Amino acid sequence: MNRPQPVEQMVEIIKKLPGVGPKMAERLSYHILKMPQSEVNRLIDSIQKGRQSMKYCDVCFNLSETNPCPICSDPSRDKNMLCVVETPQDLLAVSKVKDYRGLYFVLGGALSPLDAIGPDDIRVAQLLKKLKSDKITEIILATDADSKGETTALYLAQLIKPFNIKVTRLGYGLPVGGDIEYADEVTLSRAIAGRKEM
Ligand SMILES: [Zn+2]
Repeated sequence: MNRPQPVEQMVEIIKKLPGVGPKMAERLSYHILKMPQSEVNRLIDSIQKGRQSMKYCDVCFNLSETNPCPICSDPSRDKNMLCVVETPQDLLAVSKVKDYRGLYFVLGGALSPLDAIGPDDIRVAQLLKKLKSDKITEIILATDADSKGETTALYLAQLIKPFNIKVTRLGYGLPVGGDIEYADEVTLSRAIAGRKEM
């Protein structure tokens, strides 16, 4: 017996979420079918509201309710320092480190030749444009400590060199293969303090 058509549709759409395979999609679908209607309404409502109210900041490409985002609109931030991260979740993790008072730039991913993700698929052009227009003296490359993140950091360091800007990479403490997003505040604080020039 096949799954009833409405359930099939739920599985198909939930399967598209990152990290969710066909089995998990089926489990989640049947779980939702068991939930009280009020809970289902809350789930739908929170997704709708989140999607409608969050927008990209034109300055750093962070996701925020306002454009520019609160970090870019904060006059007390050090405009000479730029921390480059892969995703808004990574920015959120680094923003918990109180010693860092500079600005951010969200690349929107990392270079991955195996997945055919090149410089045009992430915000390399926008970053270079920013370097030309803003007075930045140091760039911290805070991409993940995995092979994609390392490839991206090396590539960007080469591109930034001609601008005469100090380029640093997060230092010790981050586990190899580690995702910035899941690193705790103390580890990130040490990694920023121990950043090395590239
Ligand atoms: Zn911003």
